[in-house]
Amino acid sequence: MDLRLPNGRVALPLVATALLTGLITPTAAGITPAADLAGKTPRDAEITGVAARDAEIARMVGDVDAKNVERIITKLASFGTRHTLSSQDDPQRGIGAARDWIYEEFAAIAARSGGRMTVEKQSFVQPVSPRIPQPTVITNVVATLRGDQPESAGRHYVVSGHYDSRCTDVANATCDAPGADDDASGVAVSLEAARVMATRHFDATVVFMAVAAEEQGLYGSAHYAELAKQSNVDIQGMFTNDIVGSADGENGKAPNAVRVFSEGVPTTETPAQAATRQSVGGENDGVSRQLARFVRDAAETYTRPMDAMLVYRRDRYLRGGDHISFLQRGYPAIRFTEVHEDYAHQHQDVRVENGVQFGDLPKFVDYDYTARVARVNVASLAALARAPEPPKGAGIRTTQLTNNTDLRWDASTVPDIAGYEVVWRDSIEPLWTHSRFVGNVTAYTVAGKSKDNFQFGVRAVDTAGHRSPVSYPLPAN
Ligand SMILES: [Zn+2]
Repeated sequence: MDLRLPNGRVALPLVATALLTGLITPTAAGITPAADLAGKTPRDAEITGVAARDAEIARMVGDVDAKNVERIITKLASFGTRHTLSSQDDPQRGIGAARDWIYEEFAAIAARSGGRMTVEKQSFVQPVSPRIPQPTVITNVVATLRGDQPESAGRHYVVSGHYDSRCTDVANATCDAPGADDDASGVAVSLEAARVMATRHFDATVVFMAVAAEEQGLYGSAHYAELAKQSNVDIQGMFTNDIVGSADGENGKAPNAVRVFSEGVPTTETPAQAATRQSVGGENDGVSRQLARFVRDAAETYTRPMDAMLVYRRDRYLRGGDHISFLQRGYPAIRFTEVHEDYAHQHQDVRVENGVQFGDLPKFVDYDYTARVARVNVASLAALARAPEPPKGAGIRTTQLTNNTDLRWDASTVPDIAGYEVVWRDSIEPLWTHSRFVGNVTAYTVAGKSKDNFQFGVRAVDTAGHRSPVSYPLPAN
C-alpha cells in the first residue's frame, strides 16, 4: 500500500496508522485549508506546504496551450540561427529577425492587458569580451505586467528564457543552430505565461523576458540584473527556463517532472553571514531554496501529476544559466530544466553521423511537455504575485538560553493580510513538514520546541489564503 500524501511525502508511521484507523482525517494530516485560517486555532498541520487553492490560478494553468507552444518553438527554429553574432537586420535569418518576432508577439499580448503590460527592447553594446570578438549590440525583449496593489507593485518576479542559439563552435555565427530545446522552449514558456497572465490581475509585478547572449556568457541577463540592482528594483524571484523541451533521455523518460535547481548558500553570502551559518546552520535555507520549495508547493496544488523535482545545487556540472546573473546580484533565482538531457541535441551542428541525427531540431521537442513546464511556471508566478511578500525582519530571539523558540518579524504593509504561519521541520528534513497559524501578530513563542532541535520559518497569509514563501529567521535580540 502506498501511503504517499498529496505532497508526495511518505507519511510518518504514526500519522499513517492514525489515518488507517480513522483517528484523524486526511485533512488534518495534510493541508491547512484556507477556511481554517480564519479560525486562528493554533492547531498544527502535520504536513504543510501547499498554497491555498485559487480557482482563477487553476484556470490560468488550464489555459496554457501546447499548440501555441509548438507555434512559438517552430517559428523560432525557422530563423536558421539565432546566434548572438548573427545578422541583426536580415528579416529572415539571424538573431535580429527572431528579436523582432518575439517583440511583436509580446506587443500583441500586451494589447490585451488593459494598458498594464509594457514591452521594450532593452539594447546595449557589449564591449569586446570572451566569446564577443567585436562590440556587439545585445537586445533583451522585456514585457512587464504591472501589479495592482500599490503596496506590492514594487515587488517583481521575473520569468526568462534565452533566444540566442549556437552550434558546436560557439564562435560560429552562420552555421544552422535551430535551438529548439535550447532555448526556444524557454522563450515559449515566457511568451505563453505572458499570454495567459496578461488579462489577469496580480498584487505584484511580473516580468516576462527573452534574453540574448546566454551562450556567449550570460551577457543579456547580466545587463538586466545589473540595471535592476543599480535602480534598487525589488526582485523577489527569478526563474530561468533553459532546456525544457523533452522528457526523454538515455536514462529514461520523465514526462511529469521538471528539475528546479536552487542554491542553498547564497552566492553573495558575506563573511558575517557565513559566520552565523557556521555557528547555527542555515546552509539549506537560503532565499533561492525557499523559492524552490514554494514552486514545488505550487506544482502540487495546481499542476499534478506534473511535479517540480527539486535539486539542491545551483546548476548542473559544467553548466550555467541566466539565473546566475541574478544570484550574483543578490536576487533569489532558480533554474528549470528537463530531467534527462540529450547532449546529441544540444550545442551540436545539425548532421547525421553513423546513422545518428545530431542537432537541436524541433522534431526532438515534446510540445505537450513544454506546456506542462509552462503550467508549473504560471502556477508559481501567479501564486507568488497574488501572495503577500515573505515577512521581513524575521528573527529568533537568542539573548538568553531557553528551550522555547521565540520568533519575531515585521508587520506586513499589505491591506489584505490575514496573519502568519510559523513552519518547522526536523533539521535533517529537506522540506517544511509542519505549520501553525498564529494570527495577525509579529511575535510568537513556540513553547516546548527548542530552536536547537528544529529549523523554523515564518510566512505571511492573506485573507484569500495565499501564502508567501518562507522567511528563514536569523539570530536576533
Ligand atoms: Zn541554454
